[in-house]
Amino acid sequence: MAASPASAVKECPSCKRNALDLLKIDTGMKLALEHIEYDGAIPSAVCSNCYQDFTSKISNGAKLRAQKIAKDENKKIIWRQRLELAQKGRENMAIKNYPNAAMFYEKYLYGLATGFDIEPQNLVPSLFVDVKYKKELIVVCYAYFDLFKIYDHSSNPATKEKYNLAKEQLKLFANLPSTRPLILRKLRNYKASANNKGAVDEVLKALDKNKDGRCFIATAAFGSSSAPEVQTFYVFRDEILARWQLGQLLVQWYYFLSPPLAKILDRSSLAKKMARFILRVVAVVLRSIFNLKSLS
Ligand SMILES: [Zn+2]
Repeated sequence: MAASPASAVKECPSCKRNALDLLKIDTGMKLALEHIEYDGAIPSAVCSNCYQDFTSKISNGAKLRAQKIAKDENKKIIWRQRLELAQKGRENMAIKNYPNAAMFYEKYLYGLATGFDIEPQNLVPSLFVDVKYKKELIVVCYAYFDLFKIYDHSSNPATKEKYNLAKEQLKLFANLPSTRPLILRKLRNYKASANNKGAVDEVLKALDKNKDGRCFIATAAFGSSSAPEVQTFYVFRDEILARWQLGQLLVQWYYFLSPPLAKILDRSSLAKKMARFILRVVAVVLRSIFNLKSLS
């Protein structure tokens, strides 16, 4: 007797193998497969092997999807809470809990980078051009400055790389009109207690160099940019003039006019003497009017 049609061997449309029976793929399963973006054709029935295959594809797909959703949600939470993390960093810094401060700052920078969809080491000021992020530049700058100080005093060799990263990022983020004056002053104050004074100088130099000039006249008159009077003019420029639009204009004029004057000073020792006298008086007056700390 021939086998009845019901028990006839059937071919699975998915794997093309013969099977005694095909299992129906119902609407629910079909939907689930579409949901995980299974892009093969979905037959109406398959062999038991293929059926199992589809089932595990669905559960893996659902797991991955859930993981992705959780990850995205986590990203959003970190992004929303990032400023609190920065705040906690500052609070811990204030009570000298440096390991915690470092941890919170690193988390803050991580949250920030996550929001921009990049790695923390790739944060750059140009990401903050949007007016709603502009104010955050100073927060980022403080984070790098504090990390720079924390890792400067860390005896753990593993933080060497983090120290260098903080230093490089500080150079980038402190080199903006909104952050430079503050960080310059803080760096100059910090230098005395710094472990690695060379690195502080390196950052100071990078920030000074990137300003479009120096105090040409004062430097020419005093013969060195490290004379206390010259330093007073730097502080005046960075902390007082830079705050006002008119002051910024004056600085620009100064950089335009002073190189030829500086050349004259270079040629004449009498002019140099006179300039020194005048600048000394001006420096004393500036220091007392604006209460500038004299620096060396
Ligand atoms: Zn099959």
